Order: sequence, then C-alpha cells, then structure tokens
Amino acid sequence: MFCKQCGKPIDDGQDLCEDCKAANANQNTANNQQYSQPQNNNVNYNNYNNNNNNNSNGKSKIAAGLLGIFLGAFGVHNFYLGYTGKAVAQLLITILSCGFLAFASSLWGLIEGILILTGSINTDAQGNPLRD
Ligand SMILES: [Zn+2]
Repeated sequence: MFCKQCGKPIDDGQDLCEDCKAANANQNTANNQQYSQPQNNNVNYNNYNNNNNNNSNGKSKIAAGLLGIFLGAFGVHNFYLGYTGKAVAQLLITILSCGFLAFASSLWGLIEGILILTGSINTDAQGNPLRD
C-alpha cells in the first residue's frame, strides 16, 4: 500500500502517509477576514436655534386692531401704538369737523385696525414687534 499523493509505502487502510496528511491539514483555509469599514456617521446636526422673537413686552396686536376698528375715529389705536402724529390727525379730523368727518377717520381707523390684525402693520412706533 502506498500513499496516493507521494507514493510512500504506508500501512494498509490508510490513503495518505503522515507527511501528506499533515500537508492536507495545513492547507490554507480561505482567509475570510472581512474588514468591516468603519462607518463615519459624522452627521452634523445643525441646531438652529429658533429664536422666536415673541417679545412679551410687545403691545397686543389684537388690542390695537380692535381699538382701530371700534375707536379709530379718535386715533386710539395709534395712541396705543405710539403713532402719535396719526393719532392726533384722526382725533382732530373727528373733533374739528364736529363729527361730520368722523366717517373718514373711522374708515381710516377701521382700515388700520384690519391691517394690524392681518399683520400688515406689525410694529409699534418704536419698531417693536406686536405680540399675538
Ligand atoms: Zn504521502
């Protein structure tokens, strides 16, 4: 009986000699090392600070708008917001005309009241934003 690979004489019942068995055993097994690539999850979360300029000291948009709608003829909403010039003009139109032109100043105030409520007028005379 001889080794199938190298032909050395070996014992019966064996296919390979000791040398060849050792060589087969030492065959390089597939080197399956998988190099996992490190994942750079450097996601930059830009934390935008949503600084809502809710000026708690701001004048009320609702109050100013309603004043304009109901008391616009007297310029009350403009006095409230600090637009003194417009306020005096509306007040004088109403008073000096003995009310005859009150419809005009009332309409003026009504329009301004609506503009305030809709946000078209959104600051007071000092430029401070009105609060909701
Ligand atoms: Zn052999």
